Amino acid sequence: MNSSKQAIELEEKYGAHNYHPLPVVLSRGEGVFLWDVEGEKYYDFLSAYSAVNQGHCHPRIKEALIEQAGTLTLTSRAFYNNILGPFERYITSYFGFDMVLPMNTGAEGVETALKIARKWGYEKKGIVENEAVIIVAENNFHGRTTTVISFSNDENARKNFGPYTPGFAKIPYDDIPALENALKDQHVVAFLVEPIQGEAGVYTPAEDYIRKVSEACKKANVLFIADEIQTGIARTGSLLAVCGNCSCEGHCEQQPSYTKPDMLILGKAISGGFYPVSAVLADEDVMSVIRPGQHGSTFGGNPLGVKVAMTALEVVRDERLALNARKLGVIFRQRMQVLVDQYSILKLVRGKGLLNAVVVNDTEESSTAWDMCVALKDNGLLAKPTHGNIIRFAPPLVMTEEQLHECCDIIEKVVKDF
Ligand code: PLP
Repeated sequence: MNSSKQAIELEEKYGAHNYHPLPVVLSRGEGVFLWDVEGEKYYDFLSAYSAVNQGHCHPRIKEALIEQAGTLTLTSRAFYNNILGPFERYITSYFGFDMVLPMNTGAEGVETALKIARKWGYEKKGIVENEAVIIVAENNFHGRTTTVISFSNDENARKNFGPYTPGFAKIPYDDIPALENALKDQHVVAFLVEPIQGEAGVYTPAEDYIRKVSEACKKANVLFIADEIQTGIARTGSLLAVCGNCSCEGHCEQQPSYTKPDMLILGKAISGGFYPVSAVLADEDVMSVIRPGQHGSTFGGNPLGVKVAMTALEVVRDERLALNARKLGVIFRQRMQVLVDQYSILKLVRGKGLLNAVVVNDTEESSTAWDMCVALKDNGLLAKPTHGNIIRFAPPLVMTEEQLHECCDIIEKVVKDF
């Protein structure tokens, strides 16, 4: 394989066309940088949809992966393995929950949480079997499985994949009265929500939204499930988005800004981009509804994955990535706001920490955001549009202030030309 053209042709011919990638073929990554097959260097401003918060090929995580790969990789859960227990203790204490259920992909983590919530509803809350309702938010993104797309309102993600899984009620995002109203239904077992809607275009709700969600759910004896697959692991300037304004490296249980969900779903950066690992965390009264034979996955909790995840979480804490994301996020939005004020092609900038989006002043159907991303690529920065007119900017959290300014200069140069 030697040229971008050849690589793209092969994907076109032999791969299912389920993505529409930017025309760049990457062959190497290190820290905040990526290189294409022709040797061009780019700043990564997507971080594999926030899965590479620790930076590409982080040496410490790589070492852990290599060492474990030569020792023991997969046993299945038919037997115990010597890494899973220490990982479970580590991650539960890291995030302040009693128990964890490890899976592989984010969507599997979401499915797991939904299953636990339903079972909890029948066995602990006393809801009549098969009548449980889970509330979700409009414009959510929780993955691609049949059940998960059943409650999406992205027509492209849903159309012709029916019949859909029943048992979900949709309410507007960032709307507490709508939630309170939906909670009046006695069949409700849970509210599943992203603390910031990433795929929808980095929609950041009111400052007190998550706290009010938790209070309303508690009052109604309904589980509050936080999907932090994209927002978690320091991305938004705190260890979790539910930590609020705290960027300490702990799980913030003592912090007044922290809102503890009843279930927390993590994925993506939990393993620093090396290996698919996801996890659902909950306290014992919720997690105990799952008993042997009722849920699982051949690869979930495998020694290789959990060793990588443990190391990836250590890196987040040791390198104080939450603090860096918080600091750089402020600078990024300040610099982008100057552009928004100056150039009418940009409408607004929003986000938290290093999960940000710039909305282009054009329709969702236009190609301006795409064209801008192509121009950014030509100037050495990789970002991707989401929903036509929104560009998400989410670099690895190991970026330095100087690098960030250089990236803002690139964006400024491109915006000027539009
Ligand atoms: N939930 C959220 C909030 C996400 O952003 C994503 C992926 O973008 C998922 C779930 C699905 O994760 P995965 O692609 O690993 O299945």
